[in-house]
Amino acid sequence: MKKFSIAIHGGAGTLVKGLMTSELEAQYKNALKQALHLGYELLRTGGSAVDAVEIAVKSLEDTPLFNAGKGSVFTAEGTHEMDASIMDGQTLNAGSVSLVTGIKNPIALARDVMDKSYHVFLAGEGAMQFAKGQGYTIESPEYFYDEVRYQQWQGIKDSETFQLDHSVKKDGKFGTVGAVACDQDGNVAAATSTGGMTNKKWGRVGDSPMVGAGNYANNKTCAVSCTGSGEFFIRGVVAYDVSCLIEHKGMTLQEASEEVIHKRILDIKGDGGLIAVDAQGHIAMPFNTEGMYRACKTSEGEEIIAIYK
Ligand code: ASP
Repeated sequence: MKKFSIAIHGGAGTLVKGLMTSELEAQYKNALKQALHLGYELLRTGGSAVDAVEIAVKSLEDTPLFNAGKGSVFTAEGTHEMDASIMDGQTLNAGSVSLVTGIKNPIALARDVMDKSYHVFLAGEGAMQFAKGQGYTIESPEYFYDEVRYQQWQGIKDSETFQLDHSVKKDGKFGTVGAVACDQDGNVAAATSTGGMTNKKWGRVGDSPMVGAGNYANNKTCAVSCTGSGEFFIRGVVAYDVSCLIEHKGMTLQEASEEVIHKRILDIKGDGGLIAVDAQGHIAMPFNTEGMYRACKTSEGEEIIAIYK
C-alpha cells in the first residue's frame, strides 16, 4: 500500500509556553487531534485527499478555539467576514470564497464553488447569493460570537490597528486553519479557512483564499496551506513558491518549505508558517514564529500534535 498522510494547522504566532493554562493547551491539542483523526480515518478507508482536507478543516471551523468558522475574529464593523479555499492536486481544480458572512463552514462553500460552479473564486454578495442558491443556512451573528474574540476587538476597535489572531501582544499571533493530505492513490489536496484579522476593514482579503498565496496543490509537486501575515504571503506567493522550488530547482519538500519560511518570506519581513505534503506522503511543517498549532499523521505510524518550537 502506498504511504498516505495528513497534516493540519490552527495558526502560527507568539505562542509562548507558560502563557497558556494547561487546560487551554489540552483543549487546543484535543481539537487538533479530533480534526487530524477525522481526516486520517477517511484516508485510511480509501477516501480522497480532497475529502480528507475538507473534513479536517470543517472540524477546525466548528471549534471556537481557532480563527475560522465559529471562532472567526471581529471586523471593524463588529461582523465576521470569512475567507476559504480548497484545491485538488490531481486536476488543479480549485474553489475559493472571500468576505462571506453567516456561513458555518466556509470550506464547504469553497468546495461547492470548485465542484458546482464554472468559477474558481466568488466574493462578498455574489458568494452569498451562490451559497443561498446551494441551500446554505445563514447562521445568526450569535453563532459566531465568542467572548475572547470580542474582547480582542474591543481592545483595538476605535484605532486604525488591525491585528492577527491569538495575540499575547499586539501583532503577535495568527489564527487560520488548514489541512493538506496525500491519499492512497498519491493525490494531494490543500484546504485553508480563516476569519482574517481582527478589526479588518475596507473588504480586506488575506492570502488564505488566494490560489498560490495561502493555498495550493499539485500532484507533480506538493500541497501547501499557509498561516501568517497574509499581506506578506500574498506578495511572496508563498504556497506556489514552495511548489516552484520543487518543480524547477529539484528541492525536496522539506528544503523548499524551509527555504520559503526561513529565508524568502523573512527577507520581506513576513512571519508565519505552513504545512505541506508531497505525493510520496512526506510532510513538512516549518514556521518562523514562536509557535504554530499543528498536527500530522502518516500511514507509517508517525503522529505529532504540537504547539511550540
Ligand atoms: N493569513 C491569514 C490572513 O492574513 C491570517 C492568519 O493566518 O492568521 O488573513
